[in-house]
Amino acid sequence: MKKSKKSLSALLVPDYIFDTYRDITPEFLSSIGIKALLIDIDNTLAPYEQAEPDEHIRKWFASLSEHGIKAALISNNHPPRVELFNASLGLDAYPDCGKPKSAGVLRAMEKMGVSTEHTAGLGDQLLTDTLAVHRLGMISFIVPPIKDKTSAFFKFKRMLERPYIRKYFKSHSAQKTNNPIIERTWKCKR
Ligand SMILES: [Mg+2]
Repeated sequence: MKKSKKSLSALLVPDYIFDTYRDITPEFLSSIGIKALLIDIDNTLAPYEQAEPDEHIRKWFASLSEHGIKAALISNNHPPRVELFNASLGLDAYPDCGKPKSAGVLRAMEKMGVSTEHTAGLGDQLLTDTLAVHRLGMISFIVPPIKDKTSAFFKFKRMLERPYIRKYFKSHSAQKTNNPIIERTWKCKR
């Protein structure tokens, strides 16, 4: 497995930012050669307090599956949360992943039988979700947090992310988004 030699700054700028996970379609994934997705749960698919997937989430996973896109859940949250969330989805799921470490990511890919060039990671945090997959040279998708925690620690983490989100939008100036959560989370004037 070839590890990325990118600078830390390049490792933290995501490859794509979407308004919501639902904007990531099987057609888009196929168009960029992605056959498998490794997906964070908290604030990417659902807020922390939502224990089970809603209809939108179930439909989205069904559509990925219908198009032959493999999916697994990779979460830093603990087994009870991840297992309950996954109960009706029945995906491969990896709790206590320890992102930005890559061990959990590699374990998930090995089980799915996919390689780094055809796999992408989806999450809401650059310092865990983006870094974990970029370290392995994979593509990183970011969505703004559905309902961010308001603790000082989380605000601090979002502040650290700001320059990398701004760098992304600087090089993707044609991308139009009117998502107020992006502006609020990363103080991006769009
Ligand atoms: Mg998250």
